[in-house]
Amino acid sequence: MNRLTITVALTAVLFSQLSHGNDLAQSIEADYRDRLGAMFRDFHINPELSTGEFRTAKKLAKALRKSGFKVTEGVGGTGVVALLKNGPGPLVMMRGDMDGLPLLEKTDLEYASKAMHKDPITGNTVPVMHACGHDVHVTSLIGTAKQMADRKDDWSGTLMLIGQPAEERVIGARAMMKDDLWQRFGKPDYAMAFHVAAGLPAGMINVQEGAPYAGADTVDIIIHGVGAHGASPHAGKDPVLLGSQIVVALQTLVSRELPPRQAGVVTVGSFHSGTKHNIISDRAHLQLTVRNTNLDTRRTLLEGIERIAVNLGRVAGLPDDKLPEVIVSEESTPPTVNNDSMVRRLKKVWMRKLGADKVSSIVSQGMGAEDFPYFTTDPAIASVYFSVGGTSLEDLAASKTGGAPIPSHHSPLFKIEPEPAITSGIQATVLALFELMPKQSS
Ligand SMILES: [Zn+2]
Ligand SMILES: [Zn+2]
Repeated sequence: MNRLTITVALTAVLFSQLSHGNDLAQSIEADYRDRLGAMFRDFHINPELSTGEFRTAKKLAKALRKSGFKVTEGVGGTGVVALLKNGPGPLVMMRGDMDGLPLLEKTDLEYASKAMHKDPITGNTVPVMHACGHDVHVTSLIGTAKQMADRKDDWSGTLMLIGQPAEERVIGARAMMKDDLWQRFGKPDYAMAFHVAAGLPAGMINVQEGAPYAGADTVDIIIHGVGAHGASPHAGKDPVLLGSQIVVALQTLVSRELPPRQAGVVTVGSFHSGTKHNIISDRAHLQLTVRNTNLDTRRTLLEGIERIAVNLGRVAGLPDDKLPEVIVSEESTPPTVNNDSMVRRLKKVWMRKLGADKVSSIVSQGMGAEDFPYFTTDPAIASVYFSVGGTSLEDLAASKTGGAPIPSHHSPLFKIEPEPAITSGIQATVLALFELMPKQSS
């Protein structure tokens, strides 16, 4: 090797090291202009319902294959799993959900959805809209795949990208797990996902310790009474009265059994019983949603509901085989609990690379739920779920000075500023992946 060759080679190495740090943002923006912007609009115009994400999955799979990933389709329904092996190191999973919602879009966007689909679960034909921003998530997976494939010299390990179906029905992650996800493709050491967030300035990254999403349980209480004439209550066992006592007693779970700094919700959303003024019914049905931010709270609330319902049945004098039944539905999800040290690690990287003013740690005040934790029930998998801001600064400023309020997720007016939401989502993801899969020195 002569001196000139050495100089050229050294310059190339130096340039590549410098440019890899500096050109990530520009390279993602160029990809957005060339391809991702149009892809996002295409996904937005063509939303699909939970479990029916056929077109979306196909487009996602095609794009990931084009970036050199080994792609498997049809995992747990319409799920997509894409692997890129790049030497020794950890396996890191990044998930994006793909489904839209049964809503008629009412935004003024020129690419607003006019799609109508037959709901694969209910059979009804309904309008469909990406009213939660999952089109941002799918597009970001595609952008992340390209950056990681183009920068294989900068990391070492195995990257697993997941296109998940049916998040809105909280059944998609479970369906993929039931399809032997880890057995077939490997169990990750780290798992990540992000959600685009209306109300957070577009491009901001928010990440918190603890639980960004609550656990949710759907609970039914069936009360068996003894029917009688309304004028002869002594001849029956009144399930309306017993149900009312149960509803009131349930209010003590959060107020008197949870430690005051632990959050929980017990809501009785429906109470059905009876047919007529003068008939004491023989049955009542209560429907509850129960929310928690950790598994201890979940246990306290679910055990408390069972104890209250069954024992108030005893108080009413019902025999053991007629006591109220408490049924916890399959549609439940555990809380999404971040790994705190991984949060601190990623936050440090993001603050350094994106700027401290681009990263926040606002603690979620809501009790919304996610099905991502079905991927991370194994305590050996460290996970972080973060948010990427999706609302334009102009809309935010207007909303604070008497203008239109920011439409929430699942609103027909829901709207995302795709640039910089998508480019920031990709940048944050790629930086996190570099941190978790550092280049191995040989
Ligand atoms: Zn949603
Ligand atoms: Zn969502």
